[in-house]
Amino acid sequence: MSTTAVSKAEQIIERERQHVLPVYTRYPVVLERGEGVWVYDVEGRRYLDLIGGIGVNALGHAHPRMVKVIQEQCAKLIHISNLFYGEYQGELADKICGLSGMDRAFFTNSGTEAIEGTLKVARAAGQRKSGPAKCKLVALDGSYHGRSYGALSVTGQEKHRKGFEPLLSDVTFVPFNDVNALRATVDHNTCALILEPILGEGGIRSITPDFMRAARNLTEAHDAVLIFDEIQCGLGRTGSLFAYQELGIKPDALAIAKPIAGGLPMGAFLVRKSLADVISPGKHGTTFGGGPLACRAALEYFAILEDERLLENVKRVGGYLRKQFENLTREFSIVKEPRGVGMIQALELSIPARPIVEEAIQEGLLINSTQDTVLRVLPPFILQEQHVDEAISILRKLLRKASDKH
Ligand SMILES: *Cc1c(COP(=O)(O)O)cnc(C)c1O
Repeated sequence: MSTTAVSKAEQIIERERQHVLPVYTRYPVVLERGEGVWVYDVEGRRYLDLIGGIGVNALGHAHPRMVKVIQEQCAKLIHISNLFYGEYQGELADKICGLSGMDRAFFTNSGTEAIEGTLKVARAAGQRKSGPAKCKLVALDGSYHGRSYGALSVTGQEKHRKGFEPLLSDVTFVPFNDVNALRATVDHNTCALILEPILGEGGIRSITPDFMRAARNLTEAHDAVLIFDEIQCGLGRTGSLFAYQELGIKPDALAIAKPIAGGLPMGAFLVRKSLADVISPGKHGTTFGGGPLACRAALEYFAILEDERLLENVKRVGGYLRKQFENLTREFSIVKEPRGVGMIQALELSIPARPIVEEAIQEGLLINSTQDTVLRVLPPFILQEQHVDEAISILRKLLRKASDKH
């Protein structure tokens, strides 16, 4: 550690404090570089990164193949706008449609924008079918879909919505996994039902197969668009490329983002053929979305997943992690339950989770908390058993300490 009066980290933190909009409660760590599952701060301390930039760094940090294509493409073309064709957008759309079973893709710069697109498609499809009355959106309590007005309007968490009203009208929230409530809500005026197969910010809670089937059947019966938000749980994190593939249920529209371009900002929404032409030319678009740099990186992302057989690793090491989380649940009464699969897992505690996260960081382990009492991990898909062991030994020590206090 630096012995000067004000460390480099403190200087950086202080400068932000004065000029960056204070919307983040950041942990007091200044990160400088990463390699694989590890990141290093400006003072040279090493951390095991099990949060991966909130599920973005699925290939770990500085994956050599990703570094190479990004460097190469930077020197050729970064941006062209959507006035022209690029070499990679069509190839990427083809790839993702093939993998997802969807028919058309639109590329965005974030998950939120992907959600916005699905909502616009749903409203436009509803209007085309039955006029302006078919505009009702149904979403789930505890969901998280983003911070823009459309995405926020279908986010079922008061803490995010409060103070920004009025939001979009005609949105109804249904209790999570409550099939009867869903049945009572979706009707002929519903244009879309939106849900995350695994609620991410909502605390890593899985939708039951029964609820999923009801969601599919009801939207079909009422000619509404079923939108899946797989921004956090998709693209391999569960061990399948998409969480819905494990349930044998296909959505009509799908939003993806986080890991897709190896850390470059990118998202996408995909729709079935029946929805491909509800938005006519000129009525939706983006300056940056689908640019050559992000598309090329995304193609490399999928190639690396396949070449390195990362989904198998997610299943194997994810299964191992789950067992360790089950062990911690048996060992400590302050741990209520383990949740999730693959590289999207959590421990629900009976005490506040943030102090544990802060202590873990001091011990060299990056995790985070959500919903006050949930410890969450979104590790890179390259994680190995020995990394799990290292993380578990830190967590065990901190949980023991916390148990003594409570
Ligand atoms: C992160 C996230 C979003 C928002 O994506 P951004 O890229 O932050 O705009 C939406 N839905 C889910 C499930 C997410 O995890």
